[in-house]
Amino acid sequence: MARTRISFLTKPALFLLAGLCITVATTGVVAVALYQMRLDAMAQARDMAENLAISLEKETERTLDIYQIAMRNVLTNLETPSPELAPETRQLLAFNAAGTISDLGVIIATDTSGKVVLDSRSMQPSTIDVSRRDYFLVHQQSPDVGLYFSKPFMPITKSDYHSIAMSRRLADANGRFEGVVAGTLSLRYFRHLFEDSILGDHGSLTLIRTDGIILMRRPFKPGDIGRSLADGKAYPLMTRADHGTFVRRSSMDNKDRLFSFKRIGRYPMIIAVGLSVQDIYAGWRKRAIAIGAVTAVLDVLIIMLCLMFSAQLQRRLAMERQLQKLAWFDTLTSLPNRRLVNREARGILADARRQSSQFAILFVDLDRFKRINDTQGHAIGDEVLSEVAQRLRRCIQGEDMIGRLGGDEFVAVLRQCDVHKAAHVADRILQAMQQPIAVNAGRDVSIALGVSIGIALYPHDGRSVDTLLRNADMAMYRAKNAGRNQMHFYAAEYEYEAKEHLELEIALQQALREGALQVAYQPKVGAWGILHGAEALVRWHDQKLGTIAPDRFVAIAEESGLITELDTWVLEQACSQLAAWRAVGVDVPNISVNVCAADFKRADFADFVARTLQTHGLRPSDLTLEMTERVMFDESTDDIRATLEALHAQGVTLSIDDFGTGYSSLSYLQRFPVRELKIDKSFVMSIGTSAMAESLTQTVMNIGQALKLSIVAEGVETVAQRDFLSRHGCRIYQGYLYSPPLAPQDFAQWAKARGRA
Ligand code: C2E
Ligand code: MG
Ligand code: MG
Repeated sequence: MARTRISFLTKPALFLLAGLCITVATTGVVAVALYQMRLDAMAQARDMAENLAISLEKETERTLDIYQIAMRNVLTNLETPSPELAPETRQLLAFNAAGTISDLGVIIATDTSGKVVLDSRSMQPSTIDVSRRDYFLVHQQSPDVGLYFSKPFMPITKSDYHSIAMSRRLADANGRFEGVVAGTLSLRYFRHLFEDSILGDHGSLTLIRTDGIILMRRPFKPGDIGRSLADGKAYPLMTRADHGTFVRRSSMDNKDRLFSFKRIGRYPMIIAVGLSVQDIYAGWRKRAIAIGAVTAVLDVLIIMLCLMFSAQLQRRLAMERQLQKLAWFDTLTSLPNRRLVNREARGILADARRQSSQFAILFVDLDRFKRINDTQGHAIGDEVLSEVAQRLRRCIQGEDMIGRLGGDEFVAVLRQCDVHKAAHVADRILQAMQQPIAVNAGRDVSIALGVSIGIALYPHDGRSVDTLLRNADMAMYRAKNAGRNQMHFYAAEYEYEAKEHLELEIALQQALREGALQVAYQPKVGAWGILHGAEALVRWHDQKLGTIAPDRFVAIAEESGLITELDTWVLEQACSQLAAWRAVGVDVPNISVNVCAADFKRADFADFVARTLQTHGLRPSDLTLEMTERVMFDESTDDIRATLEALHAQGVTLSIDDFGTGYSSLSYLQRFPVRELKIDKSFVMSIGTSAMAESLTQTVMNIGQALKLSIVAEGVETVAQRDFLSRHGCRIYQGYLYSPPLAPQDFAQWAKARGRA
């Protein structure tokens, strides 16, 4: 057939595959890029949170430092024993010190009972009492606290905001408690500070004491101040280091946030910036949706384009195929045309030359086709040609080819073909044409048609395709001249051989149908001359053709498929004969029948054997089936093995005939259930003449002995041969030394005479 180049352009599916690969690749790249963008968004947010935390921390630290300085000034003044300083002067000093913080809070000093003795807001004596505030109590009870940060409290003066106080202990020269100095800081300060920061819609800012008490939080809710975060998930992480960044769910509002925290200088406070994860990814999400949508649209476009391309390509290829068909095939019959027949025939010729094998060209021409065309019209003529083409195609098997050269001329090219196969195929074609061809169903016309076939064989009839075709054509003309509807070989000797072969086949078929074959029996003799069994051998005597040797007609039967019928008949005869002998007192222990591969391929063969034995009242052990080594090397070994095993299971003996002439492989002997080996007569005959053959015979016998098989020697003609075989362990002999194959009644006499001897 015309070969097409295999490439990208001949495979529409590859387009689709390429499209899919491109879309997968682009989608992959986009996905990676989006993922990277997401990471970048988070990294950016991290930087922002950290920077914000640092700047808020600095700001807060600066403010607290200022408080410290102011408080320390007041403290130093109060603790320095300078009685000459009037209370007013002291008050002034406190004012002075508090000037820097007046926006944020006040500075007070108390006496030992918690009464405010000094207040940066007013020169008037104060009536305020802070003895219940935590910062007073802490300093009153423990002298070593140093700087103390109070819990948030509502100032006594009217205010909307909580404050916190930073306080220190006042002591006299002996270290005795003298009161406290405290600076209060309105938390409003942090609220303003926080509100000025850029945070996103769901961000948070939190100022906590290191023990987790909230001092200020954005978003601002008055109730949050003073609450403890100590139970939350984020707080514990903030106590482990000076600063850090992490993502956690906020215990305040259950939002996921990126937290960046920083401890405020040396002060027991932490500032925490929380950027909502939702805000961080908001921009990224919008971009991802847009990019994803564009990618999806592109992917769909690419796939659609590829689909279009591949559909187009498919159409083009279909057209090309159509054109090719026109170029290489006949439009009416769809058979290969002259051009393709020529090309294929050249290929087959090259193979045959390489393998030194034969092949045949059959030139087939319809008889009197022109008349059909002229009388019935071209339409009917075309119908006839189509039907003929179909019938011809059915006659051709496997790798063989049939083509139409034009008009009513057809050519078959048969690979690995000898005279017999060529004659067979030609005969099949002649048979196929015997049935009249029904055309034009409506008018019910049926046309009887014959064909003339000319056959040329490579290499005998020509060494080139042209010569072979020409010679086949000439042979076809001879067939026409000889009376049409027949085959003719180009070479006279082939003509004769093929004719004889066909004649034999037909005659054999007839003989089988009419039961005209006979069976001869040859004794198998054991040691001491005891009868061991008989081998059934088919015989054919034809009145016209004379006696034909089994080797010849068994081969013809195998080729034409008659062999199973023949073997079935012989098996039937042999069994009935054994039963008949036994009935008249001729004791024959066993009957051997020859079978071939085709018999074992019959699915019902084992059953058939069992039934036949039963019909004649025989036991399976009465029967031996002889087959050649070829059987075990047949392609359908599995079917054959099943039948062999079934027969073996029944108790029928299986024997290998002509052992030593084939493959003689130990391994198959082990694999098949064989019990007997028959050494081929060619070995036996060379005993005494060829030392080489003798040693081969010995080897063959050794194999049989090693596998514990019984060994039979066939073709034993001399005492010397028998003695040699006996010396080397062979105990059963068959051959002219004892008796040639005999007709049944002669065999009975021979057996009786033997019995008496
Ligand atoms: P085989 O099965 O090996 O049979 C032995 C052949 O050796 C027989 O040849 C027999 O006549 C011949 N023979 C026996 N003793 C001597 C001897 O001392 N000297 C010589 N020279 N030949 C001897 P036959 O009868 O011509 O059969 C030839 C082959 O045809 C058989 O070989 C067997 O393979 C086949 N055959 C015979 N009958 C049948 C049958 O019914 N079915 C099948 N499938 N094959 C058969
Ligand atoms: Mg045999
Ligand atoms: Mg043999």
